[in-house]
Amino acid sequence: MTITLEELRRNPALLKLDLYCKGIRLTDSCHEEKGGRKIMRTRAGLGSGLELVLPHNLWTNVPVVEPFANESPYNLRHSEKRGFVVYHGDEAVTEVKLSPQPSWYERETTSGRKMTRIGSLQGTYLGVYPATVCGFWTEEVKVNCRFCSVGLNLGVDDAENKSVQDVLETVLAARKESGITYVDFNTGHYEGETYLDILEPYIRAVKETTGLLIGIQTPPHSDLKRYDWLRGLGVNRVSFCFEIFDPERFEEVCPGKARTYGLERYLEATEYCARVFDVANGEIIAGLESPESSMKAIDWLTERGSIPTVCVFRPLLGTDLENEPPPKTEEMIPVFRHLYEACMKHGLPIGIAPNVHVSLVMLPEEGRFLSSKRYRWAGVKNVTRRTAFRSAFKVGQSLLYRSPPVDKVPEIIAEVMEKCGNYPANPSATAGGNGASGVGSGSGGNGALAVASTASGQTKS
Ligand code: SF4
Repeated sequence: MTITLEELRRNPALLKLDLYCKGIRLTDSCHEEKGGRKIMRTRAGLGSGLELVLPHNLWTNVPVVEPFANESPYNLRHSEKRGFVVYHGDEAVTEVKLSPQPSWYERETTSGRKMTRIGSLQGTYLGVYPATVCGFWTEEVKVNCRFCSVGLNLGVDDAENKSVQDVLETVLAARKESGITYVDFNTGHYEGETYLDILEPYIRAVKETTGLLIGIQTPPHSDLKRYDWLRGLGVNRVSFCFEIFDPERFEEVCPGKARTYGLERYLEATEYCARVFDVANGEIIAGLESPESSMKAIDWLTERGSIPTVCVFRPLLGTDLENEPPPKTEEMIPVFRHLYEACMKHGLPIGIAPNVHVSLVMLPEEGRFLSSKRYRWAGVKNVTRRTAFRSAFKVGQSLLYRSPPVDKVPEIIAEVMEKCGNYPANPSATAGGNGASGVGSGSGGNGALAVASTASGQTKS
């Protein structure tokens, strides 16, 4: 199957996939000097590329630093007349925009840390990796996931051990100046299953102060009741990154996860949370197993009410898999077509959250460009959900959550810290605002649905 220029010009999802798989070469005139986002190595690394906005408002992060991108037929050129244009060889494909560099990126928190080292925008949401490096990287014999670059990145563009105050100040700046609606917290593996306890103060501080949508990605906790508690804190989305559905391949690529948790525990937690949160994400990496196996994972998840997050394998610099080839676009097309069709067939709520554009993965709803099938009733249902949720979120934000002045932040943090560490106490007695159920606070109910398709890929725990 040959993808033609005409198809690439007409179909933004096809272009997004092809750019993930092939990368792009930058010509001299291109990026930061003209207002684009700095290329950063954050979290598990898919944010390592150039952030672009394609036609139909599809945000993407295109590989540029990995060697395969040097061989790409794509190149980005700039001219005064047309702005930025993606070329395939010498043929223009389409005009694109650079994702804007946030005004707060270079500012410092009151503790003197650059905000961009506290959190970074992935598309239009804020991603924060608050804790120390994942424990799988620090064992005497490393058992890190082989595609992952977290152990290479923390301390490079991403600071270690971010304080709650640093994070809250960064979130407030990002909300005010970049209009974020969603904050995603991500941790790795820590001995003693401490990841949810680590996140609690951050979640409380951000939720109670801003009412923004909140998602977390951590390993699956053995006490599934912790997820009811999390929902009570106002968490909207939970994501479990099992990466690979084929059990043997899972053990090969994710030795730490296989030894400590096992695939079954990921699946069990995903299934449980799909009931607790309305929707939970199961995250996989297409290109690290056969397309058939990725599609089986999609079926397994969607049948249980979970929205799959599917990222495209990127052989990141410095990782154990850096010399692997990226997947072929032709093999990815059926996977992403299936993703869209399975979500629609099961009536899952995709594309609901306000102003959440994800650059690191192809969203299920973006897969509609790859499918000829139309789902009239599921489509109408999603439009209704979207309209209701966005209106309620907007009203809640403007009436209930005005930003406090920065000098009030220490006081807020002190109050939050007093409430923390009391699990299994009833969280609704201490969590702020509407807690789990108030759509106006952006939490619970459709809130969980709304961000179910926002996860970052290859950025996981
Ligand atoms: S993907 Fe997550 S669990 Fe695996 S090594 Fe990276 S941070 Fe740790």
